[in-house]
Amino acid sequence: MDRIVVPLESLRPARTSVANGLLRTAGQPSGIDGGPIDRFGRPIHDLRISVTDRCNFRCVYCMPKEVFGRDFAFLPRDLVLSFEEIERLARIFVDLGAEKLRITGGEPLVRRDLAVLVERLATIRTPAGRPVDLTLTTNGSALRRLAPELAAAGLRRVTVSLDSLDDVTFRTMNDVDFPVDRVLDGIAAARESGLAPIKVNMVVRRGLNEASVVPMARWARSEGLILRFIEYMDVGHTNGWRLDDVVPAAEILAAIDAEMPLDALPPNYPGEVADRWRYADGSAEVGVIASVTRPFCGTCTRARLSADGRLYTCLFGSEGHDLRGPLRAGASDEDVRAAVAAVWGDRVDRYSELRAAATIATPRPEMFALGG
Ligand code: SAM
Repeated sequence: MDRIVVPLESLRPARTSVANGLLRTAGQPSGIDGGPIDRFGRPIHDLRISVTDRCNFRCVYCMPKEVFGRDFAFLPRDLVLSFEEIERLARIFVDLGAEKLRITGGEPLVRRDLAVLVERLATIRTPAGRPVDLTLTTNGSALRRLAPELAAAGLRRVTVSLDSLDDVTFRTMNDVDFPVDRVLDGIAAARESGLAPIKVNMVVRRGLNEASVVPMARWARSEGLILRFIEYMDVGHTNGWRLDDVVPAAEILAAIDAEMPLDALPPNYPGEVADRWRYADGSAEVGVIASVTRPFCGTCTRARLSADGRLYTCLFGSEGHDLRGPLRAGASDEDVRAAVAAVWGDRVDRYSELRAAATIATPRPEMFALGG
């Protein structure tokens, strides 16, 4: 007998909209452990640290070759934060409530001596004395070489971006003719080095790789990897985003559920971006990051630090707040802490909820510049 596929929306409660909360007065007192909360009551939980704006891939939806060709002016080295500066800022964010640090980029593994930074970040403790959850998002191309030293330096786990298992599709999407086998080998290296659990991110773009959804789900399930499907987002301005190119999370889940029945799982913590599901036989977990069709601004607790030291409070924020300038001008930790707390305390962004024709035209940074 055919299984009835239940639409996602009827299986999950509606998300809490930011707008359901009362807008607080700027500068109101702080949240848990003295950390700031923004004007919608959201604390800082994650810091995403972009260590470079460079990447060795030219994924068509992120850094299209036509725009990011040989002549593109990436940041000069002196404008990129040093490891000392990153560590100092990370400590300040952890002091303000961040419990999770994610190293990203660009491609973080192209930054020389990254393990030295990992070693520094791994020593950070929360005000309650807990180690931070330290992780990294990578395209996996250099993991075979670097996974052992990253693990030895204190990295706990990795997320690897992989958009298809089909070599032709994968090479088309990374647009530098990089073979899928090398990423799979990188994932194997991460596993051998004890970087676990390993998550795999797959951006699904209509007409490019939706045929890879179910094969990826089958593979990740059999390998015991946590797969996250990401709806193609309108980050930046260079990828020519159109709503028609988005494959909604509900469609992705329905395709998987038709072959491998799914049960909903609760979030690991409030503010987790992925909607989590488990195969009904308990074999593995799968998730969707539905920032277009089911925005999660209401629980967004992520701060982003760009490679040149700007603080963004939203992936779609039009401008960051410079922290490198004050750092290099001799600001004390207390000064920087106060500056970050003030920016966060004044935060009202909820772009994905407001996504509409009017906001599509506002300037936005590119994903590679401030980290995914
Ligand atoms: N180079 C690293 C990597 O490949 O994971 C880290 C940076 S990359 C910008 C971080 C994540 O953002 C990747 O999983 C990538 O697929 C995702 N991403 C980039 N552009 C996107 C877009 N327009 N919509 C959805 N996800 C996107």
